[in-house]
Amino acid sequence: MTNPLYDALFAPHEGTTTPFLYLADGRRLSHDDFQQQAGRMANALSSLGIGPGDRVAVHVQKSPEALVLYAACVMAGAVFLPLNTAYTSRELDYFVTDSGAALFVCDPSEEGALSDIADGAGAIQKTLGLGGEGSLTDLANAQSATFAAVPRSEDDLAALLYTSGTTGRSKGAMLTHKNLLSNAEALVNAWQFTERDVLLHALPIFHSHGLFVATNVMLLCGGAMIFLPKFDLETVLNRLPQATTMMGVPTFYTRLLDDQRFNRDLAAHMRLFISGSAPLLAETHRQFEARTGHRILERYGMTETSMNTSNPFDGERRAGTVGFPLPGVEVKVCDPETGAELPRAEIGVLWVRGPNVFRGYWNMPEKTREELREDGFFITGDLSLIDDDGYVHIVGRGKDLIISGGFNIYPKEIELFLDALPGVKESAVIGAPHPDLGESVIAVLVPETGATLDLADVDAVAKRDLAGFKRPRHIEVVEALPRNTMGKVQKNELRDRFAATFQTE
Ligand code: ATP
Ligand code: MG
Repeated sequence: MTNPLYDALFAPHEGTTTPFLYLADGRRLSHDDFQQQAGRMANALSSLGIGPGDRVAVHVQKSPEALVLYAACVMAGAVFLPLNTAYTSRELDYFVTDSGAALFVCDPSEEGALSDIADGAGAIQKTLGLGGEGSLTDLANAQSATFAAVPRSEDDLAALLYTSGTTGRSKGAMLTHKNLLSNAEALVNAWQFTERDVLLHALPIFHSHGLFVATNVMLLCGGAMIFLPKFDLETVLNRLPQATTMMGVPTFYTRLLDDQRFNRDLAAHMRLFISGSAPLLAETHRQFEARTGHRILERYGMTETSMNTSNPFDGERRAGTVGFPLPGVEVKVCDPETGAELPRAEIGVLWVRGPNVFRGYWNMPEKTREELREDGFFITGDLSLIDDDGYVHIVGRGKDLIISGGFNIYPKEIELFLDALPGVKESAVIGAPHPDLGESVIAVLVPETGATLDLADVDAVAKRDLAGFKRPRHIEVVEALPRNTMGKVQKNELRDRFAATFQTE
């Protein structure tokens, strides 16, 4: 009997003394150190009665111990459930109740504050801190490092990962051993990772990107990570010379570009810069290449499927696209009404099928039936098109589509137009309820630093260059767009803030 993730990601490194984690405080952890700690932690979980299928909810700051806990859950056959560190106890209550977690692990400082969650959520057996006295870490330290991984089949759950909640309430995506392993294998191949790679890791680990993409890829290839608590510009500039690759969200790249110390010399030795989780502006792509000579490789994925598509490692990395399906992954663009496959270059909803596609939403059989078809295709809800050369373009979210006077309006088309105007740093376009048209277009603009926007000018250009139904009826100026930790623009927040103001006009 086997345990697919353990066999591929962890077991091969037993006894390997090469570094796995370089920490911000100068410490390093070898692959073998990591294995030993994971073995101890798996024994600690077992001693608490955690076994196959049990959900272990984890709400801790990014730390090597949190990764050890992930490895230990895999070994013990449990289901790892990382939670956004920004969630408050009120929000956490939903996740622990919904998941029926058997164990809730938090930072020691939170133990008191969060004990009411454990009381409220019937399924919770125990709340334990990670680190500190009497903690789960203490318990683990007293255990043996030897642990025989609990057998699991490839369709058993390895993780329950909640979506970011950009379009509504977060949903728990059930991810299996096969889902996570097939994705790590596809990415190591596609991006040519080897044991010589050192990944600069400044992403959170409660999200698919930092956990399953970055960490699983580095475990599979046997490389190392510079494991930073967060994206701190000074630290990143300092540590970049030791890295070979970086995975980031678009805001990492704009922040690097905002600092003139980030130059060609500092990036010359790097093998690869990767971006995902939110669209990378074509302008960032262009500036990054002009500054460093590197073309950022953009890829596209989601909690439910891990990675779906990637620009080519060898070959043209096209700005504004997310490249081609990864090996083993199929994508097609379908009519949102009829589900019929659309020809090239037409916009529709992207469907995805492959070993990476999740098993369904936890506790949401109806939603699962709506979005995960019997033929294996997952209806992503992202609007997209496939161009004549086969590159996939993400045009936006289905839920952000604006329908005005019977016309479909794709916010991204108007955003690209507005972004290119002088003095505009970036923009977001949303729909507001309108009594005659159904919806009308509202543009929210962020000016370049120091620039003052003349809204009459913007409107005049929009009037000249955009069809009447696409022209923003209202333009708002803000200092920055609301974003979550992964850099995703929170359009719901913009709608709440601005759309209601105009709904009677
Ligand atoms: P929810 O499903 O709860 O509304 P969410 O979709 O934001 O939240 P995630 O699974 O974290 O939750 O994000 C996946 C989404 O992020 C994709 O469906 C897509 O809309 C967007 N995305 C990811 N990578 C890219 C990219 N390179 N370009 C454009 N959009 C991207
Ligand atoms: Mg989603």
